[in-house]
Amino acid sequence: MMTPMADLPTTRGATPTNDPVCGRPVDPNRTGQGYVHEDAVYYFCSNGCLRRFMADPDAFIATQRSEHDADTAD
Ligand SMILES: [Zn+2]
Repeated sequence: MMTPMADLPTTRGATPTNDPVCGRPVDPNRTGQGYVHEDAVYYFCSNGCLRRFMADPDAFIATQRSEHDADTAD
């Protein structure tokens, strides 16, 4: 389809993600609360969650990763 106005190029096609702080689903197309940490972009439902994340990013990222990194049997 043709659009009369130029598309917004930045977040077009971005997939919905979850707020790493509170776990709520966040649509990157609708929120401006993006934060880049270690080459990854995180989105937040509110400025409050963003500030909590910025205070201690690793605490929230760790919950999304495997807790058994040290348990990798080789
Ligand atoms: Zn949140």
